[in-house]
Amino acid sequence: MKDLVLQEFKEGKEISSKGYALFSKDGNFKPYEFKRHCVGERDVLIEILYAGICHSDIHTARSEWGEVSYPLVPGHEIAGRVIGVGKGVEKFKVGDLVGVGCMVNSCQSCPTCQSGEEQFCDEGKTIFTYASKDIFHNGELTQGGYSSHIVVDENFVLKVPQNAKLECVAPLLCAGITTYSPLKRANIQEGDEVGIVGFGGLGHMAVQYAKSFGANVSVFATSESKRDLAFRLGAKHFYNVKNPKEIEGINNRFKVILSTVAQNYEISDYLKMLKVDGEMIIVGVPPIANPATLNATALIWNFRRKVYSSLIGGIRETQEMLDYSIKNEIYPMIEMIDIKELDNAYERVLKSDVLFRFVIDMKTLS
Ligand code: NDP
Ligand code: ZN
Repeated sequence: MKDLVLQEFKEGKEISSKGYALFSKDGNFKPYEFKRHCVGERDVLIEILYAGICHSDIHTARSEWGEVSYPLVPGHEIAGRVIGVGKGVEKFKVGDLVGVGCMVNSCQSCPTCQSGEEQFCDEGKTIFTYASKDIFHNGELTQGGYSSHIVVDENFVLKVPQNAKLECVAPLLCAGITTYSPLKRANIQEGDEVGIVGFGGLGHMAVQYAKSFGANVSVFATSESKRDLAFRLGAKHFYNVKNPKEIEGINNRFKVILSTVAQNYEISDYLKMLKVDGEMIIVGVPPIANPATLNATALIWNFRRKVYSSLIGGIRETQEMLDYSIKNEIYPMIEMIDIKELDNAYERVLKSDVLFRFVIDMKTLS
């Protein structure tokens, strides 16, 4: 496969890629061969070595956030190696270890892109890594990281330090940046109380970042079996929300609560736990048919508490997060799988039966 891909690259042809795709919202994963666009002047050709499984992959692939087109290859937590570069590429060379996260392009020239927040491109031209119409390549549908190769504009490729544990780097590209970005912006100081709601792929990264910023961390979760792990990852308190007695009387405590819950729940249940001017940041995105709700009356009677959202992070900040995580040895806990186990892995994510992120070993593709 690699020889064929290198030959195609040399001849300026479209790049063959193989992966696993869903062919309908309720189907199973099947092998799928497809073409990536040719490697342009400023593109990097990447051999994918590892891909994380994010809960967003499941929401998207099952059309839970709106109908998507099939076949669909999910995957936006990608770690791999550069095997070719376009003539104008300045930042990468063959052999470099790299990552690709949730975006592969944007207009790159509007004030918001220029400020490093390409995920909010003013022109609405953010191209997501999969299930996105790529207006820069004749409207082709982007396909994600559960695959052998990908071609990405160099400005959307992240540098991975050589000393990184590459298999653990993949989940940083989404779970890492999505939690690092809002926690960093919340300006957490030594000793601040921070709550993390939902203790899965994102949640267990959030605990580690909040702790590294100096916070006293509390975890709110539904899996009793994860209690000890929360303490091991640095939390001071663990509350099982299935047992309402445990959370009774927690009032006016937190500066920040970050919610990563992927199911329906009532956001205002947490507001009384915030201090005045405390912030509840929502990153979990439940299905449209089963949304989280925010009772406006409860919002007001919880006085001046803020509720806002955050969406991944820009490329500059993603690089900062990667460098910070690797320097401070903040990594996800992963379970490596064979790509043929994807269907079962999805079911296990839905049951919170993974510690804490599945990573596909792309060697199993052949
Ligand atoms: P996971 O399934 O790994 O984690 C979600 C966790 O939520 C579960 O492990 C479960 O943990 C916990 N949970 C479920 N119900 C409750 C509840 N009622 N109260 C508290 N905890 C609960 O998913 P991910 O971490 O991969 O993703 C989480 C969400 O974030 C998804 O909706 C995803 O789409 C979204 N997301 C958003 C991004 C953004 O940019 N905003 C980017 C990436 C993902 P436990 O069993 O321990 O309770
Ligand atoms: Zn994700």
